[in-house]
Amino acid sequence: MTDDLTYISSCIKEPANSVILSHRNPDGDALGSSTALAAYLEKKNHKVTVILPSEYPATMKWMPRTKDVLIFDNFPDEARAVIDKAEQIYALDFNSWERVDPLQLQLMESKAKKIVIDHHLDPEPYFDAYYCDSTASSTAELVYRLIEDLGEVDHIDIKMGESLYVGLLTDTGSFKYSIAPEVFRVASQLLNRGVDSDYVQNKVFNTLSLKNLELLGHCLNNRMRIFPELGMGLIFLNLADHKQFKIQRGDTEGIVNYILKMDGINMAAFVTEQNQQYIKLSLRSKGDFSVQKIASKYFNGGGHKNASGGRSDASLKDTVDRLVQIAHEYKSEILKSF
Ligand code: 5GP
Ligand code: MN
Repeated sequence: MTDDLTYISSCIKEPANSVILSHRNPDGDALGSSTALAAYLEKKNHKVTVILPSEYPATMKWMPRTKDVLIFDNFPDEARAVIDKAEQIYALDFNSWERVDPLQLQLMESKAKKIVIDHHLDPEPYFDAYYCDSTASSTAELVYRLIEDLGEVDHIDIKMGESLYVGLLTDTGSFKYSIAPEVFRVASQLLNRGVDSDYVQNKVFNTLSLKNLELLGHCLNNRMRIFPELGMGLIFLNLADHKQFKIQRGDTEGIVNYILKMDGINMAAFVTEQNQQYIKLSLRSKGDFSVQKIASKYFNGGGHKNASGGRSDASLKDTVDRLVQIAHEYKSEILKSF
């Protein structure tokens, strides 16, 4: 065992008040990996609370154990009190405290043992133990591998398997991206443990509302700008769009990927004005060009080579203009990316 694995193993063997924490705007991987690890730690007699800084999409309410998740934005005092009592903190699907804003100070000052399980690039050096691999498809894959390394796959029941399968499915875009042989190995192990792939896929991908489809049409028809000479395309949404389509968390998930379906377009951006002070950006690429570099250098964000996110304090128009200007600077790299 590596030192980190020995450390994590001894934490798990010692029943404790444990907090599992994932990032703001949680996605299927954040939620699936966190709830599966929570179920596992409970089997090891821990007292576990999953805390998310912000609400998860309503379309994920069917997922096992999600009703018990404590949302900081809704119950800030309760969340802070639970973190105060925590003896072990597990950070999942993020590796920089900025992703759990505004809890970072309390977390950094906490005396709890801090473990990070994650697949993003460049973890911050503030954790006691790391179970990280930026080549892994998802944090769900890593939670499976961790439990396997600890010799306890028999603890993975169908509900836990479903949660992990959601993480694998969503972070790989239905096994399209980040598909090392390991992804299929873990997926097949989950199927062997009884997970029904059709059931999970239908719950995850075939539960859109009419409004969701109309919003997609609006984005593609009225809000998309394509710059063939840069190999880049973007979609922007303003506050009026948010009002018109009553956009809620999760409603815009995946729309950015449509831009990359166009031949010759290797970088895509989804830029949205939210009911928050800042503009949120989702960046995607195909091929070698790293949007992680763009997100971290210009938009206070990060993520992965082909899927990253960030934010901007400028107006929607200025943010879009800046993005186009940046694409001009990287034009040759973007064009030869794929
Ligand atoms: P999405 O565009 O779907 O919100 O996020 C894509 C990827 O970028 C995810 O892996 C996510 O963790 C990362 N990401 C999104 N927003 C941010 C951000 O504000 N900061 C950082 N560091 N990463 C982000
Ligand atoms: Mn992830």
